[in-house]
Amino acid sequence: MAGVVVNNYGSLPVTFESGKGAVLCDIHGKKYIDFVAGIGVNCLGHGHEALVQAIRDQAQKAIHVSNYYLSDKGCAFIEKLLRITRMEHAYFGNSGAEANEAAIKLARKYGWLQSGSPEGTAKRHVIVSLERSFHGRTLASLSATGQDKFHPPAFAPYPQGFRTIKAGDYAALDSLALDETVCALFLECVQGEGGVHVIDPAWAKAACAAAAKAGALVVVDEVQTGVGRTGTFLASEQFGIEPDVVTLAKGLAGGVPAGVCLFRGRARDVFVAGDHQSTFAGNPLVCAAGLAVLDELCKDGFFARVKTLGEAIKSQIAAWNIPCVTEVRGMGLMIGIDVDGARMKQPKNAAAIQKLCIDYRFDEAGKNWGGAGLCISTAGENTLRFLPPLVITDEEVEAGLKIFKQVLTAL
Ligand code: PLP
Repeated sequence: MAGVVVNNYGSLPVTFESGKGAVLCDIHGKKYIDFVAGIGVNCLGHGHEALVQAIRDQAQKAIHVSNYYLSDKGCAFIEKLLRITRMEHAYFGNSGAEANEAAIKLARKYGWLQSGSPEGTAKRHVIVSLERSFHGRTLASLSATGQDKFHPPAFAPYPQGFRTIKAGDYAALDSLALDETVCALFLECVQGEGGVHVIDPAWAKAACAAAAKAGALVVVDEVQTGVGRTGTFLASEQFGIEPDVVTLAKGLAGGVPAGVCLFRGRARDVFVAGDHQSTFAGNPLVCAAGLAVLDELCKDGFFARVKTLGEAIKSQIAAWNIPCVTEVRGMGLMIGIDVDGARMKQPKNAAAIQKLCIDYRFDEAGKNWGGAGLCISTAGENTLRFLPPLVITDEEVEAGLKIFKQVLTAL
């Protein structure tokens, strides 16, 4: 695609053609162990039989019917999703940013209703999010994103009515609890794009209590952490918090674009007909894929394996004691590895290491992986990130880690 697609991504010089499980294959036949899964999207890996079959079957029946109508697959998917998450209502979008955009609008309307529906800007309209957070690339979700690098002046003015607090800052919670202008608190349990930082569960609980005291909604952005990524369907389950609103996307339909904003309790009936809509969202094809994903994830032992595998990967990397690796952290199969260029013979940042992994040619006689490279992701200047398919096999993990170790050891 070089030269034909706008280079917004600084794409790596590799063109993929196919994949199976956690192995991708480029147009020259070179294999790559996939520790990226399309940035946490391909939870069932590539070419998963049940997912492919579900998409194929649905494509023959009806791909899209519009939200003028319901669809059997749409109803079945959302009913199952609400049962699993114990939420009550859903709004479909097509991506994480759209799911969050819906949550922002819902929060603003909630605040407006709470303030007695005044003319003009509602008194209760401020959205509080976390420093280091990431909520998407639409203008409003960028305003909610707590990282300056995502607010270049080129795109100003940004939507107003957003402010940030620091995860772990209890003093900030005292002022939040008393703030009558706040309509919602946005949290990420593990800040993925911000560097794979797990927020303190005790502080998260206190933050939710402060938001409730202020009369504000709690929105948990589970776009990256959700759909089993951290070893439970929602990461928030492990934090003992019960959000009013949850947003999901990425793994939700195994690679078919999907996003949802789920709500319950106080947030349940805020949206009414006409408040928010999208043409493609939640079409039968997406929902058939989503159902296939949910069916796989609900199989016995699925989440437990994600947890065990994640712990095993983290402890293996830590046990290597490679000098440039300064920290390994994360939850489930969402893993961040900090590297320090000053401890390398030739200093390299995360992006340069990502490229070395791609270029690598794994050499192990008699193995399937002859000549393989490794796909990894980054989360900031000096953080490498693993988001492998949740169904990755032990053998694929072993091969990927061997490549990773060889690349890091050579630095
Ligand atoms: N929220 C979080 C936590 C994310 O990690 C992302 C994407 O990385 C988004 C929102 C935006 O999702 P999308 O790229 O699907 O719009």
